[in-house]
Amino acid sequence: MLILTPMLKALVDGSAPLPPPHPQKLSFPNEFRAMFEIANMVEVLIGNEGRELSDIERRHLLFKLASWCSKKGKVQPEAIRLELKAIYDIVNYNLVMYPEWVTSQWGVSLAKRRFNQYQNAALKLARAVAVAPPRVFTFKRPAGYRLVELTNGAQIHAEGRALGHCMSWSINLDVMRQRGYPPNGDPEALECLTYAVKVRSGELRIFSLRDRRGIPIATIGYDTREKTIRRMEGATGRPRIWDVNKCGIIHALSNVVEIKGVMMMNFCDESCPQRGWCRRLNFGLGRYAVVRD
Ligand SMILES: [Zn+2]
Repeated sequence: MLILTPMLKALVDGSAPLPPPHPQKLSFPNEFRAMFEIANMVEVLIGNEGRELSDIERRHLLFKLASWCSKKGKVQPEAIRLELKAIYDIVNYNLVMYPEWVTSQWGVSLAKRRFNQYQNAALKLARAVAVAPPRVFTFKRPAGYRLVELTNGAQIHAEGRALGHCMSWSINLDVMRQRGYPPNGDPEALECLTYAVKVRSGELRIFSLRDRRGIPIATIGYDTREKTIRRMEGATGRPRIWDVNKCGIIHALSNVVEIKGVMMMNFCDESCPQRGWCRRLNFGLGRYAVVRD
């Protein structure tokens, strides 16, 4: 950030512009907090995937995000922050899939188009090859709620899409390279999704909480080596069962797999079907624990 904010400033005041045909002055507020938001997002984008971007690539990315916000009329720090949040997946996807995009003269609009194309092709495909994921647990209350297990790329993509998380697009590039970059309309493409690869290798099992119509409410990842719940993501604004019954859901899952720990802060919401059952899975405030028997 300390490096990136001045980098962006130099693009804005024209003291260190990108080579033509990029405009020699970037239209963006010359204001620290506004620039900080952009710099911060670039930092997150680089940091998250441990991505190595050269200085020139960083400057291009700052430029792209700042011009996009400016084009959208987002110039207040808060508005910028929200806009960046909205395009985060889009940018991340393009950084992975189209590394040359960063230094191209194409901006976020193209990135957005590509991302939507991918999402639509993948969803169509996921529907075409969809087989209902097997049910592994049925709740007595609320009646008809169930846990299913996701077993292939199509199911994983559909889940990520339904709940708006990265499962729908996060791609394992190594696997994709090995398979020769299957086009988006090819079922192989979905099997290159990061989580599909992990499920195939057996390191991860993914369960989904479904309502009585089969609509996904939350995704739960299970690490088969550590025997721990690694990840739980619920949809916002979905039925309250997720908000008030996490402990109950994990308890239900313990009928399916052995659970030694939950990597999630304070997951017990007092909904435990068996009092104190969860205490050994998660002790101490704000800490998770792997419990050895
Ligand atoms: Zn509990």
